[in-house]
Amino acid sequence: MTYTTKQWQAMDAAHFLHPFTDHKALAEQGSRIITRAKGVYLWDSENHKILDGMAGLWCASVGHGHPELVEAATKQMSELSFYNAFFKTATPPAIALASRIAELTGQRFRHVFFACSGSEAVDSIIRTMRHYWTLKGEPNRQIIIGRQYGYHGSTIAGSAAGGMEDMHKQAGHLPGFTHITAPYWYGLGGGLTPEDFGLQAAQALEERILELGPENIAGFLAEPLQGAGGVIIPPATYWPEIQRICRKYDILLAADEVICGFGRTGRWFGSDTFRIEADLMSVAKGLTSGYVPLSAMLVGDRVADLLISEGGEYYHGFTYSGHPVSCAVALANLDIIERDGLVEKAATQGEKLRAGLRERLADHPLVGEVRGVGLVGAIELTADKRTRAFFPDDADVGMRCRNHCFQNDFIMRAVRDTMVFAPPFIIDDEQIEEFVARAAHAIDLTYAEIKDAGLL
Ligand code: PMP
Repeated sequence: MTYTTKQWQAMDAAHFLHPFTDHKALAEQGSRIITRAKGVYLWDSENHKILDGMAGLWCASVGHGHPELVEAATKQMSELSFYNAFFKTATPPAIALASRIAELTGQRFRHVFFACSGSEAVDSIIRTMRHYWTLKGEPNRQIIIGRQYGYHGSTIAGSAAGGMEDMHKQAGHLPGFTHITAPYWYGLGGGLTPEDFGLQAAQALEERILELGPENIAGFLAEPLQGAGGVIIPPATYWPEIQRICRKYDILLAADEVICGFGRTGRWFGSDTFRIEADLMSVAKGLTSGYVPLSAMLVGDRVADLLISEGGEYYHGFTYSGHPVSCAVALANLDIIERDGLVEKAATQGEKLRAGLRERLADHPLVGEVRGVGLVGAIELTADKRTRAFFPDDADVGMRCRNHCFQNDFIMRAVRDTMVFAPPFIIDDEQIEEFVARAAHAIDLTYAEIKDAGLL
C-alpha cells in the first residue's frame, strides 16, 4: 500500500477510532503513521527514526522485529493456525506455555487461564474471586477493592476496578467496586516520610474492610507498581502491611502484573520485587513482547483447588483462550528472555538509565523526582521543587513535554505532569545515553515554553 502520509492521515481520521483519544483534536492534527520498527527504534511514514522509550505500550521487552518471534509465529501458523480449547481439546503450545509459566512462578501458580488482553485477564480474576467465595458458601463476598489511579483495563469490569474517574464517568458506575488511596508518596505524601506514608496508605485498606464488613469483601486487586497511573512505586512499608491486612481478614489478594510480569521490574514478577504473595495474578504485555495478543490469569492453589474440585463447569472463556500462535510466540519470547539474561539486563540497564537521568536532571528547575525500578520509571515535572507542587491541570505541562518528545523523535508518555517510560530490555549503553539526552532536551524545551506562557 503506497499511500502518502497525508492520505493515511485522511483515511485514519475518516474511519479509525483510536483508543483513549480525543478524535476531534487528533483529526485536526493528523496521526503519526508508524510503519516499521527494529530493536529500540520505530520509523514513521516520513522515515523519521524514533527512540521508543515506551517499548510499544510497556510490552516490547525483547525489542521490535525479533526474527525468532517471527519464525515461531510462521512455524505455528503453518502447522496449526488455530484450534480452540472448548471441545475437550488442547493444543501443544497452550499446554507447554501453561506449564512453563507455572515453572517460572516457582509453582506458586500452578494453573493458567488464557485470554487475549490484560483487561480480559483482570475480568477473569474478578469473576473467579467471586466464584471462589460462592463455592466457599460465602456468596455475599462480592466487593472488589481497587485503588485511586489504579489501571486494570477498559472492559466494563476492568474500568470499574481501576481508579480512573474519567473512565468511571463514561463507563458507568458498577456496584461491587470500591477504591482506596494510592501509595503515591510524591503526590500525596505531604510532609510524611515515605515509610510513614506507605503504612498510612496501606492501612486505608483495613479501614475500608471494616467499614464495608469483611464478610462482604471478595478481594483486593492491585498492581505491584501503578503503571498507567504514573509509575507510582509504593514505599517499602506498603506491601508487607497490605499482605498482613489481607491475611487478617482472609481477603483474596490479586496482583495485576500486566506491566510488571516477565522482567519489567528487574525480577521475573513485580511480586518478586515487592515480595507480594498473591492468590491470583494477571499477566499480558511482556508475555509475548506484544508481538501477538495474549494474556493470562494465574491461579494459586488456594483458589484453583476449590475451583477444580468443587466448581463444576466453569462458565467462562474466549474463542482465542490459549491461541496456539500466541502461545508459540510466548514460548519463543520466554526462551529469548531466559537465554539472553534479559531480566537481569532490565535491572542493570534500568539502574544506568536512572543514574543518567538523575545526573542530568536532578538540578533541573522543572524536575521534582526521577524514580524507577528495573526498566520502568517516571520523571515528575514540578512547579516548585521544594514543595513538589503540580501545575494547574489546564496548563497541560505533561502533554506539552510529551509533544516535545514526539516532535524530537522520542517517546515518553505523560500521565498528568508525570513523564513515564519503559523502554525495551535490550536497550544498550549508547542508547541509554541517547535516551537521557533526548529526555533532557524535551524537558528543556518544555521549561522554555511554560516560562514563555507565564506558567512559572
Ligand atoms: N492491567 C494493567 C496493570 C495494565 O497496565 C493494562 C494496560 N496498560 C491492563 C490491565 C489492560 O490491558 P489491555 O490494554 O491489554 O486490555
